Amino acid sequence: MEISFLGGASEVGRLGMLLRHQGITLLFDYGVQPADPPVYPMEAPPVDTLFLSHSHLDHCGMIPVVSRRSETDVLMTPVTTAVTNILLEDSIKVSKIEGFPQPFSKLDIRTMNSNVLPIGYGDTIEIGGFQVGVHSAGHIPGSSMFEIRGSQTLLFTGDLQTIDTRLVRGARPVGCDVLIIESTYAGRFHPDRAVTEEAFLKKVQDVVERGGVALVPCFAVARTQEILMVLSEMDFDVWLDGMGRGVSQVYLRHPGFLRSVKEMRSAFGRSRIIRSHHGREKALQGEVIVTTSGMLSGGPALFYLDRLKDDPRNAVILTGYQVEGTNGRSLLEESLIEIHGARTKVTCEVAYYDFSAHADHKDLVSFVEGCDPSTVVLMHGEAREELTGALEGRECILPMEGERHSF
Ligand SMILES: [Zn+2]
Ligand SMILES: [Zn+2]
Repeated sequence: MEISFLGGASEVGRLGMLLRHQGITLLFDYGVQPADPPVYPMEAPPVDTLFLSHSHLDHCGMIPVVSRRSETDVLMTPVTTAVTNILLEDSIKVSKIEGFPQPFSKLDIRTMNSNVLPIGYGDTIEIGGFQVGVHSAGHIPGSSMFEIRGSQTLLFTGDLQTIDTRLVRGARPVGCDVLIIESTYAGRFHPDRAVTEEAFLKKVQDVVERGGVALVPCFAVARTQEILMVLSEMDFDVWLDGMGRGVSQVYLRHPGFLRSVKEMRSAFGRSRIIRSHHGREKALQGEVIVTTSGMLSGGPALFYLDRLKDDPRNAVILTGYQVEGTNGRSLLEESLIEIHGARTKVTCEVAYYDFSAHADHKDLVSFVEGCDPSTVVLMHGEAREELTGALEGRECILPMEGERHSF
């Protein structure tokens, strides 16, 4: 078996991994790095089957470019298909607004949908001489790890979370010979989740008690829903805006991929959905506003921030990692934000809580130990070498994009 990365090996973003064996070519994920302009993976050769681990743009953003070519089957869970459709449609809209060339059309998305074969956890798919098993990756609802059984057993994790969160239970190790594992948080540690949740709620309560509004920018996919569930612990007046609304409804239609549909339904039911400009004005009189985008690169979050930024009773509470060069990062580091093309000072409070959906350093190490492979391939990370010291006794491979490795 031979693997090579078309992107996303030494970097976070635009992941694509080819697996070739006895004339069969499989592709695992094909994403884009949503930057300004977007960064695309290397061109993919014709592939027999495409496996999608989950519905984040850095994994799914370029799928239609491959799936439009011929009769390429696309295997993913039904909830991944539904959310991927929302993201792909939105990325066409964004490129139109920003003036980027768009690598695929709406017709290509339709072709992708006609080639989708739905899969579920516990399934085994036969392809050529392989058997491919599907396991939960614990990252977001529907996220999958693929166990490829041939002459050796390979496990491709996609993005991985091993602790239980409100939305999904953590992934369990799968015994394998070669483990191809993400390493986003190599060398870094998350605070305890329960402590983070408590501190976050305390901060929201402080803001509400001093008469302010808490603006909580969230990623549409999974983070919005998790934050709504955390907020439902208290009796806040919560307003929901942005793309997270549609994704929440998709999740509620796929209850089998949620840890507790009852809790999510109750959290969603308790929040007030904003559908109009009038609704936005009313939300500004409320207590908490949950909206996209998570890094303040666009979306309704900027409208609210513009209105809330000058009153020190208000707060912007970030809930995800803020990538270098984004509005969210400059807000955290310099209290500056770009709105309508102008850099503006933000005087309200800015806070950040780590609700990461990725395994941290110690979780990655114990996951590797649980899978007990002889070879570990580290991908999807900028500090992969931080992990190798903790994996002594196993061969560690840190592939670069375009390199071929055989097993
Ligand atoms: Zn992800
Ligand atoms: Zn990712």
